[in-house]
Amino acid sequence: MARATVLGRLTWRVATVAAVRDETSSARTIVLDVPDWPGHLAGQHVDVRLTAPDGYSTQRSYSIASAPEGNRLELTVDVLPDGEVSPYLARVLSVGDPLEIRGPIGGWFVWDPEKPEPVQLIGGGSGVVPLMAMIRAREAGGAQTPFRLLYSARGPETIFYRDELRRSSENGSGLSVTYAYTREVPQDWERPPGRVDASLLAQITWAPEQEPISFVCGPTGFVETVADLLVSAGHDPARIRTERFGPSGGGS
Ligand SMILES: Cc1cc2nc3c(=O)[nH]c(=O)nc-3n(C[C@H](O)[C@H](O)[C@H](O)COP(=O)(O)OP(=O)(O)OC[C@H]3O[C@@H](n4cnc5c(N)ncnc54)[C@H](O)[C@@H]3O)c2cc1C
Repeated sequence: MARATVLGRLTWRVATVAAVRDETSSARTIVLDVPDWPGHLAGQHVDVRLTAPDGYSTQRSYSIASAPEGNRLELTVDVLPDGEVSPYLARVLSVGDPLEIRGPIGGWFVWDPEKPEPVQLIGGGSGVVPLMAMIRAREAGGAQTPFRLLYSARGPETIFYRDELRRSSENGSGLSVTYAYTREVPQDWERPPGRVDASLLAQITWAPEQEPISFVCGPTGFVETVADLLVSAGHDPARIRTERFGPSGGGS
């Protein structure tokens, strides 16, 4: 009901695709120009609506990948091969095409740059998208808030934003990035393939005593497992914010 009330105040806008950029063989970033965009917070998402010539219409949610910046937005869409919407967005939509969007949506899964506490980002697969918006917003604002990203993906070829993450983690501003691979690891990688578990979280995330705020995003199973592990490790549940992307059992 609350969501319906909030959405009721949002209008659909027609954005125009300004650029597209492949992130991996199955994921693409779509850069949109959105007239009169009201601005957004890092972590929010938009609804995208597609309408067929016969009037059939369907919509999906996509996180905003970009830091707040004028009338421009970036989304990164990963293709689900049997999906209805994602193959169109990531493979067919082209520069100059219109796209209906509504937003920004969400007030809980957002990072507040005014807050000084350390931030723990934990993303599975495309769940890294809203976390990237937080990293970009931190950098754009020149914030020094300590940030750690744990990014779980199937293999090295499925990592989004790799070069940018490397640059941002090497510029001395206090961002650390750790990759965890579930299926395929690079040569001489320190850990065998596997899912994020208690021992990995204990090694590389902020300790509960440092009172971090944690943002966990990805497939439903991934998010639930990681949030449970954080609580078991002693993190305050009120400081763990989660966003679930879909019904999957956690393939990332
Ligand atoms: C708040 C929010 C933000 C999101 N942000 C992003 C984003 O930034 N990038 C992105 O790529 N996706 C994101 N998603 C997921 C997105 O909304 C769609 O669910 C996804 O693109 C699949 O849509 P589809 O029409 O292609 O597949 P559908 O036709 O809806 O589904 C096809 C099959 O895949 C299953 N399925 C649906 N969604 C998922 C999923 N996420 N994971 C695994 N299996 C699934 C369905 O059960 C079905 O079997 C987000 C979801 C939410 C709720």
